[in-house]
Amino acid sequence: MSLSAGGTTREPGGVQGVLFDGARLRLFLARLRWPDGFDCPACGHDRYWLRGDTLYLCCACRRKTSPTAGTVMDKTRLPLSKWLQAIWYVTEETGGVSALSLQRALGLGSYETAWAMLHKLRRAMEPTSGKLKGYVEVDESFVGGNEPGVRGRLSKTKAKVIIAIEKRGLGSGRVRLRQIDDFKTETLSAFIEEVVENGSTVITDGFSGYRTLTNHGYTHDSRPVKGKKHPDGRKMQAHELLPAVHRASALLKRWIMGTHQGAVSKELLDYYLAEFAFRYNRRLSRHRGLLFYRLAEQAMQTGPKPYVELLTDPAGKRRKRKVKAARAKRAAGTVGKPKNVPRVQPRRPGGKTTKLPTRPSRSAGSW
Ligand SMILES: [Zn+2]
Repeated sequence: MSLSAGGTTREPGGVQGVLFDGARLRLFLARLRWPDGFDCPACGHDRYWLRGDTLYLCCACRRKTSPTAGTVMDKTRLPLSKWLQAIWYVTEETGGVSALSLQRALGLGSYETAWAMLHKLRRAMEPTSGKLKGYVEVDESFVGGNEPGVRGRLSKTKAKVIIAIEKRGLGSGRVRLRQIDDFKTETLSAFIEEVVENGSTVITDGFSGYRTLTNHGYTHDSRPVKGKKHPDGRKMQAHELLPAVHRASALLKRWIMGTHQGAVSKELLDYYLAEFAFRYNRRLSRHRGLLFYRLAEQAMQTGPKPYVELLTDPAGKRRKRKVKAARAKRAAGTVGKPKNVPRVQPRRPGGKTTKLPTRPSRSAGSW
């Protein structure tokens, strides 16, 4: 089965033109879900019958399973081909996409659908390639609005992010990021232990929060910027001592301000950090098709996060209120689409008037 879609989403022959028909789509998703062959989630049996285009019927316990059950696409009402188009679109754009552009590109009925889809896909972007190793630079960064007159670790309103990145010669390797609540020694070492392999060399600035790293099995290379000078007498800057991590931090800020226009709330920041790491770690990949494949694969291996759960996050609650207000406005007839009028088929000569089923609702909370 060929996965090469060719072209871009906007060209004929791009992903919009790729026909993901029922059977091919099912086979593709099933291979991602069960790489070693079908595995019944109820009884573990490996033989099945096919039911329709998407269902697997277990030969032993007769349970029907869809390859997307228990993944980020769990209980989705969207056609699965739309999901694959979304994955293509998201991986094809090197800088990432906004919910609005995704909605337009896929012709989705509502912004909410695109927004939730993007967040679900971001969850599937969590790094899976194991711990960082070798020489690893670690530093903290701040993401968020301006706080005039406040410097560095004293910030109160900005989100605190810790970044670890592999140093490879003059360049850099893989990156890991996490939002943290404070700069306590335990918080910093917990993150480092989670993402950096034991025995690696961790390079930090002179901050005292890193002083216990040697107790955790790391070689600690502390580089305090204070008093460091170039041979010609110029003062050394922090970004010269820890170049890789500063580069990643600058890119992160530019990406949040650029693609997302700074509209990233603290509550949802972790999702964005996952996306940033996904893109950064694959920035040198010349084959966008591989990225598509990787994200599709991770989406099929990541558990579900229902839309309602996204909405129980504080940021989601604000969104929910907005949606409700917009719906009330529409219902009052002051703005937007006309109210839902039952669709009635015109009377045919000699026939009866029949009420057509209304379209499935795409409203918030329904998928
Ligand atoms: Zn079974």
